[in-house]
Amino acid sequence: MSEYIDNWRKQKAAELQREVDNYDRLFGVSSTDGPACPHCGNTITPDESFYYSEDRYLEDICEACGKKFRVELNIQHTWTTYRELEDDDTP
Ligand SMILES: [Zn+2]
Repeated sequence: MSEYIDNWRKQKAAELQREVDNYDRLFGVSSTDGPACPHCGNTITPDESFYYSEDRYLEDICEACGKKFRVELNIQHTWTTYRELEDDDTP
């Protein structure tokens, strides 16, 4: 009986891992700390300027697992505006 449960668990774990892999393939792995390897999760510390180049930093090879991956850099800007202090609220 326990062997049956063990096999069922292994099968379920493999199914879930395949789902996670497919999800990562479709949507990528996003991180704000640095590029994270989509194969093993190792996160690279972006301590060189080329990590911030949208045009040049398009792929990398993971130093932990040795696998190649594509990179898409997203730069987000936020503009916050304030009213002049002397403005009143009448239109
Ligand atoms: Zn890796």
